[in-house]
Amino acid sequence: MSSDGFGTRAIHGGQQPDPITGAVVTPISLATTFVQKSPGLHTGFEYSRTGNPTRAAFEACIASIENAKYGLAFASGSATTVTIIQSLAAGDHVITIDDVYGGTNRYFNRVAKVHSHLEFSFIDFTQDGAFEAAIKPNTKLVWLETPTNPTLKIVDIEAISKVAKQHGITVVVDNTFASPYIQNPLDLGADIVVHSVTKYLGGHSDVVMGVLATSNDALYEKLKFLQNSIGAVPAPFDCYMALRGVKTLHLRMREHSKNAQAVAEFLESHPAVERVIYPGLPSHPQHAIAKKQMRAFGGMITFFLKGGIDESRIFLENLHLFALAESLGAVESLAEHPAIMTHAAVPAEQRKLLGISDNLIRLSVGVEELTDIMGDLKHALHKVQQGPAIVPL
Ligand SMILES: *Cc1c(COP(=O)(O)O)cnc(C)c1O
Repeated sequence: MSSDGFGTRAIHGGQQPDPITGAVVTPISLATTFVQKSPGLHTGFEYSRTGNPTRAAFEACIASIENAKYGLAFASGSATTVTIIQSLAAGDHVITIDDVYGGTNRYFNRVAKVHSHLEFSFIDFTQDGAFEAAIKPNTKLVWLETPTNPTLKIVDIEAISKVAKQHGITVVVDNTFASPYIQNPLDLGADIVVHSVTKYLGGHSDVVMGVLATSNDALYEKLKFLQNSIGAVPAPFDCYMALRGVKTLHLRMREHSKNAQAVAEFLESHPAVERVIYPGLPSHPQHAIAKKQMRAFGGMITFFLKGGIDESRIFLENLHLFALAESLGAVESLAEHPAIMTHAAVPAEQRKLLGISDNLIRLSVGVEELTDIMGDLKHALHKVQQGPAIVPL
């Protein structure tokens, strides 16, 4: 493993100047097949689903910044999830967080449970002893996210990994919300780390892709076999885009974190705001764990306006810099309403249990100038305070 600093590995990890042309940027390698000197004697590349040079560079780069031995890239974050879950056998039990990413929840409940006959338990890991109580003799895997979405609960990766290890349970951490700059789950005892590259790793809202990293040889062999067998691999162009995105990950995450901290503090002091959830605020219920396992607190903020759906609409309709859109993790600031947008598929009863109310707003704070971000929020909050516009008859 390289002793270089994070930013150096983000820029150079897995990449050398092209040995033939000297090009400093990894080429987009489009060939589907690779010539062999003699049957079975080749450069390491045979067929592009099995292995592709641009993809290999990206996989090595992610392994480097996640302090892992191996990386494996996929066509999306969701394809990464599916490939990992395919390593289990019918009858196996998986424990996951109650507010797991919506697409992951849908795959677990409506595909893996029905078609692969796996069992799932959805629990609140912030409750002491909840994980231990959920473990059964057939529990094989625990699937975590931290911070969670959208209520940004923090799970103690080290504590959970310790218990899981005693029971021979594989720990997977979806590290999408934090990014490798902020948190390295493998260093805290996790076995596999997963990313939707679509978010912070890509960072520019222009590529859908996924990746996993691990240092466990046996798990890697199994997952590499599944990557090739299932075939949900990314295109070389997307791997190139992702490599380019990762080169500025450290710069972006510093700015995201700096901007979000300022925004969270501002929102917390605003009279139109009921409550703010941000791991970097001392008021966050798991702030101490966040400080222990995160190097910075990232760009995601969730807050509750005073009021309900009407106030949320006024706020979101009056934002100009923040785009009203799903997704997160890119350079531009985004705002969304989970109850109507990203979490609409979660039944109303379940949304209530998870605290996803009609006055909850999720922000993905971008890296625009902080004064402009603040100006936009101030303006929209002022409109909320003025109340609904009176439409002349
Ligand atoms: C977006 C996302 C995914 C799914 O990734 P895709 O690239 O959209 O398939 C998984 N986990 C988290 C936390 C996400 O935000």
